[in-house]
Amino acid sequence: MALNATFVASQALEPDYIFKDLSSLQAARERAFHSTMDLVCDRHDFYRERIGQAGLHRSSFSCLSDLSRLPLTLKSDYMASPARFVLATEDLDIESRMVWDTMYTTGSSSGQPTPFVSTSFDFFNILTLQRNMLQLRGVTERDVIANLFPLTQVPHGAWIRVLHAAASLNVPVIATMPGNPSAEFTLGNGLDRVVELVALHRATILWGVPSYVYRVLQRAAELGADFSAVRLVFVTGEALGEIARQDMQQALIRAGALQAHISVSYGATELQGGLVECVPGSGYHNPLPAQMLFEVVDPITHQPVPDGQPGWVVLSHLHRRGTVLLRYALGDMSALTREPCPHCGAVTDRLIQMPQRVDALLKIKGMLVNPSVVTQALDALLGATPYKVSVVPAEPTQGLAGDVLRLQVEAGVVGVPSAALLQCVKQACGITPEVVWVPSQTLMTQGAAWKARKFVDLRPH
Ligand SMILES: [Zn+2]
Repeated sequence: MALNATFVASQALEPDYIFKDLSSLQAARERAFHSTMDLVCDRHDFYRERIGQAGLHRSSFSCLSDLSRLPLTLKSDYMASPARFVLATEDLDIESRMVWDTMYTTGSSSGQPTPFVSTSFDFFNILTLQRNMLQLRGVTERDVIANLFPLTQVPHGAWIRVLHAAASLNVPVIATMPGNPSAEFTLGNGLDRVVELVALHRATILWGVPSYVYRVLQRAAELGADFSAVRLVFVTGEALGEIARQDMQQALIRAGALQAHISVSYGATELQGGLVECVPGSGYHNPLPAQMLFEVVDPITHQPVPDGQPGWVVLSHLHRRGTVLLRYALGDMSALTREPCPHCGAVTDRLIQMPQRVDALLKIKGMLVNPSVVTQALDALLGATPYKVSVVPAEPTQGLAGDVLRLQVEAGVVGVPSAALLQCVKQACGITPEVVWVPSQTLMTQGAAWKARKFVDLRPH
């Protein structure tokens, strides 16, 4: 009986994201695209109008290559009227019309979170997506996941989808519940308790945002907690430069996790998951290729660029019933390959550069500043030490008093002198910042703590 049970479990773990070849993936996508366009042309307020305005019809989209005739959808289109992106499914089957959950995007220019609606039909597929992510990352039925995401005031998907991911692969998960997002919620744990829970349950996977995972590892080393079972670290929500990755690897070793690998994901609410690495440096694999299509397009012509060339990352949902986005610019630059992965063999799209924000150029003191250049320079200098760069008015009550670029750094983790920080930011953007040292654990508790934003513009618009 025991042997039989093992056999059944292994069968259940057979991955279904690997297509035999590109042509079988393409065929699955064509089928999904055909049904989606039928639905969209009948039941999607935004795209019915957009297709009509472009002088197109349902018959203009006979196969996937016709999708590029549709103008790009920008975040601003979606944020202006999110309800118009939800299919009208009230007369369809129950799975297509029941709202299972609504998650919200962060980081809009207005500060207002944008709803992303999933019906039961969508949720079932999100579970498959989550399972595929785990399998691409090498999770087995013997793993135990420690969920290091905090609960948040606005549901973003990070905290709850980790629980769903564990369910999808029938593996245990410990929700460590760091912090308290509200006076109404008092069940959150402090750092030491989080460390204790990881050790107590002998978690093999730590899953969270890099700055918090790093803090947990540092504290584990200080407390002498046994983290020797940890073999994988899943990080998302913040860019992780090479230096920061090495810092985290060192922190893992100090915490006793000598063989652990770090696996980075490119996640977004609009994906309800993320593109993941199978091994470090292998690129970010699309975990549900028959249902999600990625293109990389020229920023000016909006037409696909050859594989391997950089451009805007564009997402199309090919198999959804709630919020549906087609040719949606995620706001990041990267490059794409469709070559089977040389490491795991998956036939799927892979983004071969960590996506970088493109919609975030800021004018500060009359200079155009790319925040990601500043954060990359600081990441290289500070590793995983939490910091935050903000643009603030010099005199909050006077609109014309000019701006200040403020760099807050948590004291006590690394000994980088203020002068080096000044020089680093000056070199990256031409502006000398004001450096403010803040007590440790200050920066993670503010605002949307699950996704510590490293560069914020706090000027009134
Ligand atoms: Zn791979």
